[in-house]
Amino acid sequence: MAEKRDYYDVLGVSKDASQDEIKSAFRKLAKKYHPDISKEENAAEKFKECEEAYSVLSDETKRKQYDQYGSAAFDGSQGFSGASGFSGFNAQDFDFSDIFDNIFGNSFGFGSSGGRGRNAKTRGADRLIKVTLDFEEAIFGCDKELNLNVVEECDECSGKGGFDEETCSRCHGSGTITSQQRSIFGSFMSQSTCPDCGGSGRTFKKTCKHCSGTGRISRNKTITVTIPAGVDSGNRLRLTGKGEAGTNGGPNGDLYLEFYVKEHKFFQRVDDDIYLKVPLTIAEAALGCKKTIPTIYGNIKLNIPAGSNSGDKQRIKEKGVKNETNRHKGDMYIILDVQAPYSLDREQKRILEKLADTDLSNPEINKFNKFVKEN
Ligand SMILES: [Zn+2]
Ligand SMILES: [Zn+2]
Repeated sequence: MAEKRDYYDVLGVSKDASQDEIKSAFRKLAKKYHPDISKEENAAEKFKECEEAYSVLSDETKRKQYDQYGSAAFDGSQGFSGASGFSGFNAQDFDFSDIFDNIFGNSFGFGSSGGRGRNAKTRGADRLIKVTLDFEEAIFGCDKELNLNVVEECDECSGKGGFDEETCSRCHGSGTITSQQRSIFGSFMSQSTCPDCGGSGRTFKKTCKHCSGTGRISRNKTITVTIPAGVDSGNRLRLTGKGEAGTNGGPNGDLYLEFYVKEHKFFQRVDDDIYLKVPLTIAEAALGCKKTIPTIYGNIKLNIPAGSNSGDKQRIKEKGVKNETNRHKGDMYIILDVQAPYSLDREQKRILEKLADTDLSNPEINKFNKFVKEN
């Protein structure tokens, strides 16, 4: 795999560039390299590079990760943990919505654009699909079957689009047509791509019926993808070469999976940490107790100290997400939530009333009472 260029170099900004500078640099480059409008060589590649750099640098969290770990934090066979992608900008910001239609649509639309002649080696288009995962699937990883509509090289004609190649009779193999135009200033020679052979200089005696001469076939395919443990909503996984087929021996595009993780009824995930609110009765909170606490790895017993309050937090080390992508082990936090009794019978009421006559204050209550007196 080719060396990755530094994201700051890609956008041509300094390491301490502001978000405005980054956005403006990306805007300029995106206009320059967008494959639908750019005449530059390798425009699609370059556009992709810019857009990847932007997706990371425009997000302060990812940018910090990148500054610390480099692109390894986002790339490689494990895919990237970070690039939740393009949420940082929208078409209105940029005023060329066609680009964003491509990005947000099923296909990025890179690669297949071109007009560089039928024989040019072209990289296949990248694709982005959204994958919904259950809370546990995301945490522990899973094998996911995905149904994809993929465009592949036609096997009847090996992607050529026809049989019995011959030299184009219109352009005699040059791929271009020269025409002369007369005007009052004299005559002009102008060159254009040959419409018969699309610039390749070759035509076929027989067009392939299987793919109607396009060399490509659309197919429904089920693939099984191993999702690493610890992915989160917005993360993307890149499957190199699983995008659309390249043409004329060009490489395949990449397939990006973007995850959406469903919420859990009780557990709350923040990055690799898991939070759980644990309701306690006033007796449990006041007297302390041994409480059974669910974790994502099963139940554990935990000591709740006497005199606990709502909002008290306990950290349980390494019971959070074991993230395979960034090799980080999260923790679990339980937050206590003391609940007043729901309904009291006569006996319970009597006990509480008796308690109310005694001094039940704690340092917080004393502090407040002092404030009331002084006010
Ligand atoms: Zn021709
Ligand atoms: Zn064919």
